[in-house]
Amino acid sequence: MEEELRQAQKMEAIGQLTGGIAHDFNNLLTVISGNLEMVERRVPEGPARELIQAAQEAADDGARLTGQLLAFGRRQPLHAQLADVGQLVAHFSDLLRRAVGETIELRTVVTGSSNHAMIDASQLQNALLNLALNARDAMPRGGRLTVEVTHADISPAESGVRPDMRPGDYVLISVSDTGAGMTPEVRQRAFEPFFTTKSAGAGTGLGLSMVYGFVTQSGGHIRLDSEPGHGTIVRIYLPSAQKPAESHPAGPSVRPEPAL
Ligand code: ADP
Repeated sequence: MEEELRQAQKMEAIGQLTGGIAHDFNNLLTVISGNLEMVERRVPEGPARELIQAAQEAADDGARLTGQLLAFGRRQPLHAQLADVGQLVAHFSDLLRRAVGETIELRTVVTGSSNHAMIDASQLQNALLNLALNARDAMPRGGRLTVEVTHADISPAESGVRPDMRPGDYVLISVSDTGAGMTPEVRQRAFEPFFTTKSAGAGTGLGLSMVYGFVTQSGGHIRLDSEPGHGTIVRIYLPSAQKPAESHPAGPSVRPEPAL
């Protein structure tokens, strides 16, 4: 229990630090990109223009990295809207299938007809894509990836066992694979930015930290269960929001987002 709290505090501290750096760096990249774009328009086709385009691509890669760091530091603006998470996940399944390739069998299972939450759909897509790519890397000879959406009611008694979770109604997204799994050492550090066991170029160590930041910024919780040889399960708990009543013209009734 203490271990989980210590871990949460550590993530908070790293989040503050990286979020601050990423924020300033992102502003600089915006200036670089903007200026390169203006120069590119003034330069005729040829080698000079190609150099500018290469610099522009590097700036875009940098912006993608800072975007993930901003998500981890919870400084990524979220455009949260009431959505049925089951429908969203079903909608993303083609993209996920293409991302993991044919050697991996993807199953999406949605239980219940209404799993509503206040959520930024494009950030959720990004998070699921990161999880799917990790699962793919953990199953080089193929396997099964299951994405399940269901409802979870965390009772006060249960939340005592899980000190990082508030009791309440949640939409639960479980992403499980039949891959290599993680050792306890890797599992403990997996959400840290820049922690990777992959070779340079294959991993940045920012995938899970982006997912962590996005979920906590959405008022949710994330849990990781993994054992070597037994695969990995990532559980994302998003606070349930009520579906708007058809006859209620005043708009959706949404549970206020709990303070982070
Ligand atoms: P990256 O994928 O770039 O290494 P992540 O933050 O997404 O960065 O993951 C950090 C590390 O956690 C990975 O390098 C890997 O060791 C481990 N990991 C993440 N997801 C899985 C998974 N599904 N199965 C096994 N190990 C995983």
